[in-house]
Amino acid sequence: MVYYSKKMWETVIGLEVHAQVISESKLFSSSSTEFGAMPNSQVSLFDAALPGTLPSINEHIIEQAVKTGLAVEAKINMHSSFDRKGYFYPDLPAGYQITQFFKPIALGGRINIGNGRTIKLERIHIEQDAGKCIHDISPRYSYIDLNRAGVALMEIVSAPEIRSPQEAAAYIKKLRNVLRYIGTCDGDMENGSLRCDANISIRKVGDQNFGTRCEIKNLNSIKNIVKALEYEAARHIKLIERGEMISQETRLFDAGKCITKLLRKKEGVEDYRYFPEPDLPPVIISKEFIDSISLPELPDQKEKRYVQEFGLSEYDTSVIVANKAAASYFEQIASSCDPKLAASWITVELFGCLKKQNLDIKNSPIGPERLIGLIKFIEAGEISGKIAKEIFAEMFSSKKTAQEIINKRGLKQINSMEEISGIIKQILENNTEEVMQYKQGKEKLFGFFMGQVMKATSGKANPKLTNDILQEILKN
Ligand code: ADP
Ligand code: MG
Repeated sequence: MVYYSKKMWETVIGLEVHAQVISESKLFSSSSTEFGAMPNSQVSLFDAALPGTLPSINEHIIEQAVKTGLAVEAKINMHSSFDRKGYFYPDLPAGYQITQFFKPIALGGRINIGNGRTIKLERIHIEQDAGKCIHDISPRYSYIDLNRAGVALMEIVSAPEIRSPQEAAAYIKKLRNVLRYIGTCDGDMENGSLRCDANISIRKVGDQNFGTRCEIKNLNSIKNIVKALEYEAARHIKLIERGEMISQETRLFDAGKCITKLLRKKEGVEDYRYFPEPDLPPVIISKEFIDSISLPELPDQKEKRYVQEFGLSEYDTSVIVANKAAASYFEQIASSCDPKLAASWITVELFGCLKKQNLDIKNSPIGPERLIGLIKFIEAGEISGKIAKEIFAEMFSSKKTAQEIINKRGLKQINSMEEISGIIKQILENNTEEVMQYKQGKEKLFGFFMGQVMKATSGKANPKLTNDILQEILKN
């Protein structure tokens, strides 16, 4: 069998992201949403679907969803409503999920994923999460934990405009960052606060129509999203080039084997028997409610401002803005010292050390205050870059300030002309042979003399000054 070049095919991807809304209580009950509690310790009668219990809408969650809609420039529906989606699964005690099918809270919107690419959104709706089945405690029984049942999710659905697994990763990262900036979802995929179903089809480059898609359920890391989509695209290409048809399926990703497996043939909308939820009134939002919601500075706005106001490079900017805590750290420093120096110390030295110890900047051993202290010495020309790095390393593993380390180790840069001249003269006297060779034209010995000065001063001699004085003295 001859396979055509991958270049002939284009991947079409649309993502459905389930984002757990930050809220102390659930969507329709007052049970706590705290992660990691004892199983079934956060379950109200309504969450367990006892007959006769009724839902009552948590207004904070409506506010969080509207805030999210505003942040991605979606159109907020002033009038939305809830529906029942019927399906049977042991972790869904009511036998239906309350979701928004006919009239979601928001429509449209967009996510800028960089490189001049923007992905449109189809809709955002609010729905309940299900509980969890636990199969790995006992070989004979399955257990059900309903703590998560009824927790509020926002389902954020992209249009099928994503064109590669890498773009899918960029989309998730950007969406997650926006959610974190506005505080409507913590975005922690490892805790399941953000989960993704990925829809993918392929088509010949240039085709206008879409191919048949498959949906890969419940991807829980960006790495897995990329791997699952890569595998699935290759599977589709192979089948089509063999002359077979793609059947619309729901599939699962096996992260161990790095393959996707059939879960079920795709169910149609009619299977869910959607109908309006009779126990809840419609959600009617006023203009005043929307106006009362204020958004913080969003990542795209921050990026623009860092470049314009601070003159940072686009690279430094994107690295800092990609992490909300890093942006706040940077802004605390940038107000009291040179922003470009601050950015480079954060992105290179600080991020490097944090990464080695697998720490997030939120838990950085060096806080903004201490880093300002160090940068001030560099700005004033009192320490060289090389020595600053040594001081930084010591600051990272102790509670000392730059000032304390400099004092203790006598690390201040030597900026006195007399002192440096004295040291140079001594060195030249001790190396008369080399001086002669230099004067006869062996110019690369200049580096040797510089090295000797640095050695004699443990790197503390001001390099520029040393260079100038050395040039001057060797001329005579
Ligand atoms: P469902 O509710 O059955 O999952 P939707 O119409 O809501 O179906 O679409 C879900 C997702 O599938 C959306 O993100 C959409 O962009 C994506 N999608 C739709 N058609 C295609 C296709 N042909 N190829 C890839 N993705 C698609
Ligand atoms: Mg779906």
